[in-house]
Amino acid sequence: MQMFEELEQMGHERVLICSNLEVGLKAIIAVHSTTLGPALGGVRMWNYSSFDEAMHDVLRLSRGMTYKAAAAGLNLGGGKAVIIGDSKKDKSEALFRSFGQYIDSLGGLYITAEDVGIDVEDCETILTETPWVTGVSEAHGGSGDPSPVTAFGTLQGIKAAATRTFGDAPLAGRSVAIQGLGSVGLWLASYLAEEGVKLFGCDIDPEATAEAAEKHGVEIVPIEDIYDVDCDIFAPCALGAILNERTIPRLKCSIVAGAANNQLDDEELDGQRLASRNILYAPDFVINAGGLINVYNELTGHYNRDRALRMTRTIYLNMMRVFEIADEEGVSTAVAADRVAEERMAKISALGTRQWGRQIARNHRK
Ligand code: NAD
Repeated sequence: MQMFEELEQMGHERVLICSNLEVGLKAIIAVHSTTLGPALGGVRMWNYSSFDEAMHDVLRLSRGMTYKAAAAGLNLGGGKAVIIGDSKKDKSEALFRSFGQYIDSLGGLYITAEDVGIDVEDCETILTETPWVTGVSEAHGGSGDPSPVTAFGTLQGIKAAATRTFGDAPLAGRSVAIQGLGSVGLWLASYLAEEGVKLFGCDIDPEATAEAAEKHGVEIVPIEDIYDVDCDIFAPCALGAILNERTIPRLKCSIVAGAANNQLDDEELDGQRLASRNILYAPDFVINAGGLINVYNELTGHYNRDRALRMTRTIYLNMMRVFEIADEEGVSTAVAADRVAEERMAKISALGTRQWGRQIARNHRK
């Protein structure tokens, strides 16, 4: 019964439970909102300990996608899917094709992409059964790896936060500590190194730290010490929930701006904790929208990397708008980002139009 209450509270439009035990498929597709367009969000394969845990995750993640697309100014709604299973052992062609048939049954209401535990090949297997897949390889007319675009967007958000905090000067001479030197973190290090930024970083993977040090001159610090680095900007690019009552008091930076999803352990309290320490927080779903902007470009016609990067530059202005609202309304930047997204959805839904969603559907895989 609690699940129905959660659904009601979060306002999902549709939730589809997908079951084909013959091929081992146990999945949930959640369409949170199609107010601005079709609900786009990746599919995650994870060994959830219970159905309720999987449901809770997909409801939360799909709602997050609605806010990310809305704040980025995209004509997309929010959705997400989860497949319950071990991504190392339970994958099969039949499982992904069966899942693809479920996606297809929604007729374009939900469009899938990669997420944790899912790779390009899995998306291409899903593509056998439905055209409603993005993030496939360039060979299949897709946009390929989104990480460089996500990192480029994160750089725009960092520049906005730096301008807000330090004034108009370029980033050269500033210092940034990057937590997580994986796909996005390493690209971010390369962009920041080009700007003449002093870099610190950490990763649990010694290969990642070695590459970052060698290629981009990143000074590697022990994993736990990353919160104590005396720097201008802390850029979380690994895990979620790392900003909390234990870590925030340790920070020695003026800005937190990185690509990781769900950085605040408690959105309200930790947003306020950062603000009361006078640390400017660049809300995660605004700064890390580059990957979504990238796949959006796959949907709206022939994919073009330059156009995707040009659109990703708007993250700078979106971020500035969030900072202004936070100042004007005396709220944390996390709350201000929610307001930007909610305001846009309210205005567009008042128009009573879904034309853009339809146009995407027409263009997609023509
Ligand atoms: P990734 O798996 O390639 O990189 C994450 C890195 O973090 C790995 O190298 C891992 O070893 C490291 N790591 C894990 N735990 C750590 C810890 N405790 N301390 C330090 N490092 C640790 O993932 P990614 O694609 O680079 O994504 C990074 C973050 O950005 C994730 O939160 C992801 O959800 C978010 N994000 C990514 C994209 C994208 O386009 N890839 C888009 C939006 C948001």
